Amino acid sequence: MQSTQSSFENLRKDFPILERTVRDNKHLVYLDNASTTQKPNQVIDAITDYYQNHNANIHRAVYALAEEATEAYEKTRDKIANFVNIKDRQEIIFVRGTTEAINLVAYAWGRPHISEGDIIVTTEYEHHSNIVPWQLLTQEKRAKLEYIGMDDNGELILDDLDKHLATGKVKLVTFSLMSNVLGTITDAKKIIEKCKAAGVPTLVDGAQAVPHMKVDLEDLDCDFFAFSGHKMLGPTGIGVLWVRKSVLNTMSPFHGGGDMIREVHKYETTWNDLPYKFEAGTPNIADVVGFGAAIDYLTKIGMDNIREHEIELTKYAMEKLSNIKGLQIYGTKDVSKRGGVISFNFADVHPHDVAQIIDEEGIALRSGHHCAQVLMERLNVAATSRASFYIYNTKEDIDVLVNSLNTVAKVFK
Ligand code: PLP
Repeated sequence: MQSTQSSFENLRKDFPILERTVRDNKHLVYLDNASTTQKPNQVIDAITDYYQNHNANIHRAVYALAEEATEAYEKTRDKIANFVNIKDRQEIIFVRGTTEAINLVAYAWGRPHISEGDIIVTTEYEHHSNIVPWQLLTQEKRAKLEYIGMDDNGELILDDLDKHLATGKVKLVTFSLMSNVLGTITDAKKIIEKCKAAGVPTLVDGAQAVPHMKVDLEDLDCDFFAFSGHKMLGPTGIGVLWVRKSVLNTMSPFHGGGDMIREVHKYETTWNDLPYKFEAGTPNIADVVGFGAAIDYLTKIGMDNIREHEIELTKYAMEKLSNIKGLQIYGTKDVSKRGGVISFNFADVHPHDVAQIIDEEGIALRSGHHCAQVLMERLNVAATSRASFYIYNTKEDIDVLVNSLNTVAKVFK
């Protein structure tokens, strides 16, 4: 597909929800893609087809439906391997989403590997799901949680990382590849390089990056990587944890139950091969199949084209928004260093008032702390308004937003 404004506009017909009106017969302008994305017919149809024609439990029975269901489920694993360049499909674990992936690591890797006095390092712009699991772990183990700070441009202060690594006590460094509030794209390679030199493993939260740019895990060379299907056109309740096999082999199971075992005796159990050791119970089969359709859809468009489209939208939006009186945009002005996420505030207007006025125009805009209260503290605000774009957004969507924000500016003058 050619990356032009019109080719992206053509995609809109695949998304039935974009046809609907909201509130007072206003066309829906969906700008909350950092939270979750809308689903194309291809994904909806794949889920329907699975339930109408192939539904059965996987990996166990030998009858035809079970074989079809297993094949469809496992095919998505291969699609993921191709999509983010993972050489070994046994390293791909299906989870409910990024949150579960990180909790899995904190539990199954963290509990046996972290002890009193150890340090885990995260950053000031993390989503709560990359802070709270580490708080739970470090509190339980009497270890410490430390932060890489953020400068006023919304970029990480890597000197902080150097200081933490110099203690010799750091056992894990974790960070998101793209901030869900500021859109900052983290200099992941530099962080991973520093950590490797210090012999420290890295966990990368790819929830915001994987949907919006080409990510190559072989090239990135981290140790743990997590992302969520619903932020990239897929269904809710399905995501991926990738862990290097040498590390997976040192981890205990997360959940015990069916499918994760090889043999169960009265007092002992042996584990199934990877990745099934970490996929206990009946998984979310239909949504894994839907996730596969989402990956096909994105692959057809091309991740570089998607990134280009979002840079164009972000540039346009930043220019328009900076002309609105009293509106402050957070984070870097350099669109090559950020994704299509723009957080802003009016000096004297609460973001919830902004969202309410905007909602009357049919615009879905997020206001709040965006599950990033540590970042809100750093910015010295309780909340921000956030517009976040995806493949189906257009410059017209941004015009509607800007017009509506001009009304806000007038109302609260
Ligand atoms: N990490 C980041 C950067 C996010 O933006 C989000 C969701 O907004 C998450 C983690 C949590 O993802 P999920 O709710 O799909 O588990």
